[in-house]
Amino acid sequence: MNPATPRLRPVHAGWIEVITGGMFSGKSEELIRRLRRACIARQSVQAFKPSIDDRYSETEIVSHDENRIESTPVANSEALRELLDPETQVIGIDEAQFLGPGVVQLCIELARKGKRVIVAGLDMDFRGEPFEPMPRLMAVAEEVTKTHAVCVVCGAPALHSQRIVEGDERVMVGALEVYEPRCRDHFTPPDEIESHVEEVR
Ligand SMILES: [Zn+2]
Repeated sequence: MNPATPRLRPVHAGWIEVITGGMFSGKSEELIRRLRRACIARQSVQAFKPSIDDRYSETEIVSHDENRIESTPVANSEALRELLDPETQVIGIDEAQFLGPGVVQLCIELARKGKRVIVAGLDMDFRGEPFEPMPRLMAVAEEVTKTHAVCVVCGAPALHSQRIVEGDERVMVGALEVYEPRCRDHFTPPDEIESHVEEVR
């Protein structure tokens, strides 16, 4: 087999897939696409998202382009665990960076039980720092997909989410008024913006 050929998932084995990238990079869209395909394959699917992310719909995962799938809002990984049906074959989790560190162990346990676990979430926060628990999930996953948005300045693939309003909170559930996708060259960490403002003064 060509080493570059992706291996197919063994039919009965558990597996973790991570879809990660910045804001507006199509993470939810890709998660929805994979879950839809599992539904078409007549697999039993459950989807979850953190209850903090209520920007579009309480009971659906909705991507920025209005693609949607039914999902259950949960406060953390413990709440998610309690709502799992033992018969479920495929579990989708969106915005996993808001579910706390326990989500890593939960995904490992589910994969060990033979489940296909598909997790989407932000890889970095607005400072450009790794956003736990996504880095840990990436480490324990069989497959990682990095998604990119388009830099609003130059059109290059964007890996960063530039916050364009002031605020120090790490969690600011976003839409276009709050964040912009930026490439490495056009991303400025908030600390550098602040020191630049100081210099101007
Ligand atoms: Zn750029």
